[in-house]
Amino acid sequence: MREYLKFYIDGKWVDPTTPKTVEVINPATEAVSGTISLGSAADVDKAVAAARRAFATWGETSVKDRLDILQAIQSEYAKRSDELGDAVVEEMGAPVSLGRGFHVGLGAGHLQTAIEVLKEFQFEQQRGATLIRYEPIGVCGLITPWNWPMNQTCVKIFPALASGCTMILKPPQLAPYSAQILAEIIHDAGTPAGVFNMIQGQGSVIGNALSTHQDVDMISFTGSEPVGVQIQKDAADTVKRVGLELGGKSAWIVLDDADMANNVAGATGGMMGNSGQTCSAGSRLLVPASRLEEAIKASADACNAVSVGDPNGNFAMGPVVSKSQFNIIQDYIQKGLDEGAQLIAGGLGRPEGLDKGWYVKPTVFVTNNDTVIAREEIFGPVLVVIPYNDVDDAIRIANDSNFGLGGYVSGSDADECRRVARKMRTGAIWINGGFDFHAPFGGYKRSGNGREWGEYGFHEYLEIKSIIG
Ligand code: NAP
Ligand code: MG
Repeated sequence: MREYLKFYIDGKWVDPTTPKTVEVINPATEAVSGTISLGSAADVDKAVAAARRAFATWGETSVKDRLDILQAIQSEYAKRSDELGDAVVEEMGAPVSLGRGFHVGLGAGHLQTAIEVLKEFQFEQQRGATLIRYEPIGVCGLITPWNWPMNQTCVKIFPALASGCTMILKPPQLAPYSAQILAEIIHDAGTPAGVFNMIQGQGSVIGNALSTHQDVDMISFTGSEPVGVQIQKDAADTVKRVGLELGGKSAWIVLDDADMANNVAGATGGMMGNSGQTCSAGSRLLVPASRLEEAIKASADACNAVSVGDPNGNFAMGPVVSKSQFNIIQDYIQKGLDEGAQLIAGGLGRPEGLDKGWYVKPTVFVTNNDTVIAREEIFGPVLVVIPYNDVDDAIRIANDSNFGLGGYVSGSDADECRRVARKMRTGAIWINGGFDFHAPFGGYKRSGNGREWGEYGFHEYLEIKSIIG
């Protein structure tokens, strides 16, 4: 049983101003796995005051000073990586291979990337007679979701630290454990008091107090569209910068010259990874209409091959994060059936043999792009396959979405894949499985504003100053 009752403020573990706790549920067992404290606006005031004091010195540190801290964090992170992975498994139900593997690896990757970028970053540029300086924006509020907890905290904290900002992290109530360990890591690395602060609690309380705070300079948020909209409104009165990473309904276009069976199987398996709880998941799989039967067989076979079970066992997929997410996903599957979409694998209810825990059947429908299940983000292991007539039709369908976060193209002609990618209105497109920690990541349309990852992620936390003459 975990008990994390203190917050990390001004370099110390402190009690909440007003004691209040909530139990955390393990989604694989539905049993209580621990308790956290819920903070208040008074705790936010303390943390913001500490971050403001620390900014006066941290904002003026040299690149070398900040590199020293980031490298010290790196060695503490490496020592505790399995512990972080196990926390992710317990809080959000990722299989242990994924939790200790990619979840923790993404955090480590963003840390390493922040170090690489910081070594090269030009904080001053001369343009004619004008000196352009990039300066840290100040005190930042970082508000994160539960679906990739290490990724989403690390992709904010390390560029913010590297840029010279100070910060207050508000982790998700559903996945609070890994953030607590990360705060211990940052403390043990010798990060100066007040530079990093962490308060657990409700988004409507802590998130709101950060968004409306007079002395917070920017908010970086990852999560749902309605909360992103609310934060922008709450931040408007103080003219804060707001970075938003929201949802997606990303298209995966399999071109006619691709190895259909392999690519469809890969896309289907990819969709089920992390129980489908990935904002950039390729949740609309676009295949040539002339090869639909082949694609259906490949997708159904790949879906039926996904093993589901205990995150601490040897299964490809664990539960979804909570009862509420389970119910939302079940409603979408029912909606797909009601809309007349063709169910080719999975369906309603838990997988056979699992009667406890928030386990969902990996599910695939064939449908068209006008259905609710093709238009709304389900955030679960539910894939829709959509046939297209020709490449222009595929591009049209891909772009016919309120979202624009990710995209995928599979094909054997690299030039054609890039031509298609150029026409997709979305922030990041992976061709034949590429991956790059330095590639900017963020949304077009309702998928958000701003870019994280790599050098572009630094700009979220930097102001621009012109010194003319
Ligand atoms: P969410 O409700 O948007 O929550 C994300 C974070 O914002 C949490 O820390 C949450 O706190 C906080 N929050 C809630 N209300 C707030 C407010 N009024 N002001 C400031 N912060 C607030 O997302 P979720 O519940 O984690 O997931 C729900 C949906 O969001 C998913 O179904 C999915 O569609 C989308 N999502 C997208 C991404 C992405 O990466 N783009 C990631 C996760 C989820 P609490 O701890 O109180 O919840
Ligand atoms: Mg929520």
